[in-house]
Amino acid sequence: MKIAVIGSTHAGTAAVTNMAHLYPEADITVYERNDNVSFLSCGLALYVGGVVDDPQGLFYSSPEQLRQLGISMRMQHDVKDIDTINQRIEAVNLVTGEFVTDYYDKLVMTTGSWPVTPPIEGIDLDNVLLAKNYNQANTIIEKAEHADHVTVVGAGYIGVELVEAFEKSGKRVTLIDGVDRILNRYLDAEFTNQIEEDFRHRGIDLRLGETVEKFEGKGSVQAVVTNKGRIDTDLVIMCVGFRPNTNLLRGKVDMLDNGAIKVNEYMQTSDPAIFAAGDCCAVKYNPTGGHAYIPLATNAVRMGTLAARNLMGPVLKNVGTQGTSGLHIYDLNMASTGLTETSARLLGVHVKSITINEKHRPEFMPTAENVQLKVSYDPESRKIVGAQVLSKVDVTQSINTLSVCTQSGMTVDELGFVDFFFQPHFNQPWNFLNKAGLAAAQ
Ligand SMILES: Cc1cc2nc3c(=O)[nH]c(=O)nc-3n(C[C@H](O)[C@H](O)[C@H](O)COP(=O)(O)OP(=O)(O)OC[C@H]3O[C@@H](n4cnc5c(N)ncnc54)[C@H](O)[C@@H]3O)c2cc1C
Repeated sequence: MKIAVIGSTHAGTAAVTNMAHLYPEADITVYERNDNVSFLSCGLALYVGGVVDDPQGLFYSSPEQLRQLGISMRMQHDVKDIDTINQRIEAVNLVTGEFVTDYYDKLVMTTGSWPVTPPIEGIDLDNVLLAKNYNQANTIIEKAEHADHVTVVGAGYIGVELVEAFEKSGKRVTLIDGVDRILNRYLDAEFTNQIEEDFRHRGIDLRLGETVEKFEGKGSVQAVVTNKGRIDTDLVIMCVGFRPNTNLLRGKVDMLDNGAIKVNEYMQTSDPAIFAAGDCCAVKYNPTGGHAYIPLATNAVRMGTLAARNLMGPVLKNVGTQGTSGLHIYDLNMASTGLTETSARLLGVHVKSITINEKHRPEFMPTAENVQLKVSYDPESRKIVGAQVLSKVDVTQSINTLSVCTQSGMTVDELGFVDFFFQPHFNQPWNFLNKAGLAAAQ
């Protein structure tokens, strides 16, 4: 059995480490265009901000480790073509320029995603950078050394994390987004308002509801021109989203309109010989029951593992995702799962929500911090479809609990009476999750 895997970051590394154990007789070959595997982009902002000083900690595997499992690692090999009829692939060795061809019985596509680069005038100027892989992280660090003012374009979680990193490093920072608030895909306005206020308080120049029209400069970027003004800057980081890297299979397997590969519950594409996992795929999104594009490392490692387990026959189904994510910005901890009111509205889904504001533990304790929790549910079935939390104390694990509730189809009324422990160090006699359930019933 000849298995070819294209891409070895999270989905690919999870797939091949599992396959090496499950199918010791198989001949597994990995094609990876980078010179490293398993880079944790989630540590990129911490690395840029100097919190992570040893970048080796950002890798949990290496080509050598994977070779020791018996895998053929073709590093710095860029796959150029996949002939799905004859089950052949063609790649170029990026070091020697030599072309290699190979065949497969099974192909695992883990080519991930790439940052979106809109066709903005001047985007090719020096110092307009992307933030995805290890080499880009190093370029950002090198260029930021000489930058006084940094502009981050895109106020999703990556943009927001970078803003914090640059501000803490003493840079003047501008954050631009075409939407009128930050983190709009993860949290509703009553949550993001607080983070925006914190940003403004720290001197961060927020340009929301403002779109970039061009970058100006001679060789290197010197200014960003938006529909509302001009900002002098030394460095721009583009964080406006990701698109799936799937051109190699375009027209050959079923995809969403954005190019994300559709897989079944066993990670199989519409071509039975081809499996796919991670950012190159659409995921099964439980709150709506449909396909969605949610590029997260959590989805990637799970899907890579499932692709490996199901490669020789369907054994383990994907339970789907709620797109659960968490964030720590300055003193605030926040997390969300499933639908927010904003995302529900955009999808045309009607939801009701309940919001709880209370102290995380009894006020007789030396400290007690505010917790803001919002739980959204289907008004008809009363099933929980999403939740958001924000606090100075870390209660983000409660969103993992609500992720399970959403996945399992629990109603908001059942949530009111779930057995949660009480101990004054940690919480109140009525856990705030119970309270949300109880309040929804009133
Ligand atoms: C700054 C940042 C912070 C993030 N933080 C978080 C977080 O906190 N939590 C979270 O869950 N997720 C986070 N993510 C998202 C997460 O990093 C991605 O979801 C994850 O990397 C997806 O893994 P993947 O293996 O599917 O794809 P990718 O990481 O995109 O890897 C795909 C691999 O395929 C290779 N490849 C592509 N095409 C070819 C080809 N033709 N030939 C050979 N090789 C090819 C690429 O070189 C790459 O190594 C973050 C992402 C970024 C950029």
